[in-house]
Amino acid sequence: MRLIATLRNMTPRGRKKLFLWSTLGPLGCIIPATAVNLGLFASLGDEALRRAVISAVVNPIILAGPLFFYLSLKLRELAVVNYKLAEAAATDFLTGCLNRGSFSTQVEQCLSETAEGSEPRGALLVIDADHFKKINDTYGHHEGDVALKTIANAIRSTVRRDDLVGRLGGEEFGVFLPNANEEVAKIVAERIRSSVCGLSFMPQGKPCPLTVSVGCATFARRTDFSELFRLADERLYQAKEAGRNRVQYAFINQMAPAGVVALH
Ligand code: GH3
Ligand code: MG
Ligand code: MG
Repeated sequence: MRLIATLRNMTPRGRKKLFLWSTLGPLGCIIPATAVNLGLFASLGDEALRRAVISAVVNPIILAGPLFFYLSLKLRELAVVNYKLAEAAATDFLTGCLNRGSFSTQVEQCLSETAEGSEPRGALLVIDADHFKKINDTYGHHEGDVALKTIANAIRSTVRRDDLVGRLGGEEFGVFLPNANEEVAKIVAERIRSSVCGLSFMPQGKPCPLTVSVGCATFARRTDFSELFRLADERLYQAKEAGRNRVQYAFINQMAPAGVVALH
């Protein structure tokens, strides 16, 4: 029964691989076994040779067939478990976003993947929930967790599939927009802010406004995660200072040397 369930849960590609290994495995045994038996029994006459060949074909099918099938199945199961483990290790348990380590690693990877000669472009948004402590204090930690999940879902549903969304810690999120220019980054950052602001969050049946402040750093030259994060975090701080529920921008200019930033 478990075998049938496992086979049913496999992708067509997985089933194809399983079939392939279960066929190629015994075949790989039949060829050398036949060659050896032909050599060993050649001098014993036709009947002995015929039996030797039958034995070299039938035995691998009976023995190696099920063995290869079983081993391939176990290897596929192991690959699936490995994939799920890697996914769990990269995911924030509460919100389902990437965790901080995985987010920064993937952003670094995107930043280093820009083809030689082409212009690097993109944006990092650092998003922090406003007055979040008050939500915990008023409605309890559980409702605070629900609010965090609600904000995470709003952010995720606002961005595209290729964009990266991570929980950087506590009530702070990061969004990386590969290839986004200044204009696109501004639109996305504002869309995130307004979509969170428009959420209807009703802990214990009472309306509780949710808002976020956003620091946005757009770049048009080579940079790294720590520089981008530092700039976006500075802008986030300014957004908080300016009254919260707003976005502040920084732009790392293509022509500017490292650390020189044009303000908008
Ligand atoms: P500000 O607008 O300046 O960001 O104010 P704030 O209250 O959001 O910021 P502060 O840093 O004072 O408080 C952050 C709060 O977020 C405190 C902490 O209890 C809460 N928090 C962090 N992680 C979690 C979590 O996983 N679940 C819940 N429920 N609360 C969390
Ligand atoms: Mg906060
Ligand atoms: Mg914070």
